[in-house]
Amino acid sequence: MNIILLAPPAAGKGTQAELIVSKYQVKHISTGALLRKSLKQEDSISKEIREIMKAGKLVSDQIILELIEKEMDTAKEGVVLDGFPRNRVQAIEYEQLLQKLGQKVDAVLYLSIPKEVAKKRILARRTCPNCGKIYNMQIEEMLEELCGSCHTSLVSREDDNEETFDLRYETYMRETNPLISFYQEKGLLIEIDASLKKEEVFEVIEQKLRMLN
Ligand code: ADP
Repeated sequence: MNIILLAPPAAGKGTQAELIVSKYQVKHISTGALLRKSLKQEDSISKEIREIMKAGKLVSDQIILELIEKEMDTAKEGVVLDGFPRNRVQAIEYEQLLQKLGQKVDAVLYLSIPKEVAKKRILARRTCPNCGKIYNMQIEEMLEELCGSCHTSLVSREDDNEETFDLRYETYMRETNPLISFYQEKGLLIEIDASLKKEEVFEVIEQKLRMLN
């Protein structure tokens, strides 16, 4: 099964992707996480990518497509894509890549959320720099901000601030939002209210995926 998660920043793509892989036989591919991992090297390309991400812009299609192609090599059972495709070029290239692999997109889950709700989530989001687990400080009751899995001190992502959020949202509206009609026309789009609690959102996702079979 090949699933795409399409959503504005902070709608919960990463969280829902983790829940999906815990239940279905699919591999989670997060382009944002892959990029952040690659930033640990201190070369000139990493510096360039870091600046682009801090400015809320999109990293070049070529870099992203190379990442995806490599990841798809080890995803024989299917994938849940989180953060890709993010524009029309990427969507078309992905279709062609799947065709080469003899596969297709099964569903595009559009997680919809009002901008202000997403912004509040971004400001409350903490991530574990070691294992990547995501926390929401509006919900979690924690005395110390330590990862529940590996006890590392949690951090705010470099792009999780109000200014970068606004820029990311603008980029989303301009580049990614048009993919809603792109996939609607193909009959693949499933809209899901992502302003509910994460467990409730996942329940709806499960219902919708059940209807596909
Ligand atoms: P969010 O979805 O919460 O905005 P991500 O972790 O998915 O965050 O992405 C963080 C940043 O990584 C984006 O703002 C962008 O700069 C870059 N990025 C991630 N995926 C892509 C992509 N498919 N194409 C171009 N840039 C990307």
